Amino acid sequence: MTHYETIIGLEVHAQLLTTSKMFCSCSADYASAAPNTHVCPVCMALPGVLPVINRVAAEKTVLAGLALHCTIAEASVFARKNYHYADLPKGYQISQYELPLCRDGWLEIEVEAKAEVEAKVKRIGVTRAHLEEDTGKLTHVVAGAADARLSEGRGGQTLVDLNRAGVPLLEIVTEPDLRSADEAYAYLVKLQHILRYLGVSTADMERGAMRCEANVSVRPIGQAAFGVKVEVKNLNSFRSVVQALDYEVARQIALLERGEQVIQVTMGWDEERGRTVVQRVKESSDDYRYFPEPDLPPLAIERAWVEDLRARLPELPDAKIARFVKEGLDQKDAAVLAADRAVADYFDATVKAARGQDPKTVANWITGELFRLMNAAGVGIETVKITPAAFAELLSLVAANQINLNSAKKVLDAMFVSGRRPDEIVQELGLTQVSDSDALTGIVSQVVAKYPDEIAKYRSGKESVFNWLLGQVMRETRGKGNPAVVKELLAQALRE
Ligand code: ADP
Ligand code: ZN
Ligand code: MG
Repeated sequence: MTHYETIIGLEVHAQLLTTSKMFCSCSADYASAAPNTHVCPVCMALPGVLPVINRVAAEKTVLAGLALHCTIAEASVFARKNYHYADLPKGYQISQYELPLCRDGWLEIEVEAKAEVEAKVKRIGVTRAHLEEDTGKLTHVVAGAADARLSEGRGGQTLVDLNRAGVPLLEIVTEPDLRSADEAYAYLVKLQHILRYLGVSTADMERGAMRCEANVSVRPIGQAAFGVKVEVKNLNSFRSVVQALDYEVARQIALLERGEQVIQVTMGWDEERGRTVVQRVKESSDDYRYFPEPDLPPLAIERAWVEDLRARLPELPDAKIARFVKEGLDQKDAAVLAADRAVADYFDATVKAARGQDPKTVANWITGELFRLMNAAGVGIETVKITPAAFAELLSLVAANQINLNSAKKVLDAMFVSGRRPDEIVQELGLTQVSDSDALTGIVSQVVAKYPDEIAKYRSGKESVFNWLLGQVMRETRGKGNPAVVKELLAQALRE
């Protein structure tokens, strides 16, 4: 069998976090409102209205462009993309065509190099990032729908909600640089992190705030020209993207192996059946009859404004990971902590408050114990009641041997529930660690006296008994014994 190479290019749409819509003053908070209440003559395209460009949307697009190492246009032109569909009241979408706000950037992903274990960095070209507007939302009514608002309609009807029509959208298009579904996944995750760091979008795929269209083709290895591509839409989760790409690659290879050809079409991903389905024969840009939007002047982008935005860029995920690694974390912990900006900030604040403590210890506590508590409670870092300062205090109690590890975990559990300071909880639960060897020697002697058989076994060479005996002493101290001191005293007692 011939071997094939996969070629993928992604087009991502992200809703921008703005108060108002792209070209009018309607609220952009479309989801929570009753249908068709966030609408006005501009976004309903009544005759005689004029659009006005949303400055914050332009600002967030430029921020994203800068984070993606793009060139920011001196002047950008909005264009009309004409097509007819029930969710598009104007009969056209205002987008950008020849002169997008941002172009020629890149983003780096880590790819697993086959022969080596070390991850390699691969640069994915970003062709363009431009600003446009979202469409309305259609709901196809199924007979007997459970939703009361829909049950009045009989099956086969479609309801239109224009609250979303005109919400600002950022579109980011990559070069055909991705070579596998895994690389596409890594790109999307990285892009999502960046958009969230910048605060430009919630980038939530499940909620439609980040949507992905995947272009995919295959070619026999060694062939220079790309194969014919297929575009796949309706990818509503990371999982769908990976599944759809795997499915489509296998389908295209099977076609070519049978001597048939791939036809350039737009497909949809059928989540339930786990397959791609042809939606339409691919349209070309000619079909959209693009022309410059006559109601809007070209958008001039002042260099001073761009530089001002550049100066406001936060430390981005890659830079943060690199800094964490420099501070002593391993790559994996650094990546886990940097994935969410709020978690990374929490980590930084805790390290700062826990002066002199190893950042690695702090990282272990956060990714281990704190994440365990957060997962169990189903909450994010924003709602965690433990302040970084209180967390740091707990870690210093452990470092100063005032409580042992097991007790510290109990204290953390209590802090998680109440948000109270660790020293209060330690007092209340009576968890202060016993390091005093006089007190501990007594307990050790009791245990040694109580288990003569086990002691004999240990002395005849069964070393594993030691840990069991250690456990008995710790239990007698009700978990408060300093394990290092107990161990030392027990070893001493057994040598006698
Ligand atoms: P179209 O004119 O069909 O929209 P574009 O050239 O604008 O095509 O590319 C759209 C997306 O498809 C981009 O992300 C691009 O990287 C990707 N792409 C282009 N050619 C191929 C190909 N042969 N295989 C896979 N992806 C491709
Ligand atoms: Zn409006
Ligand atoms: Mg295109």
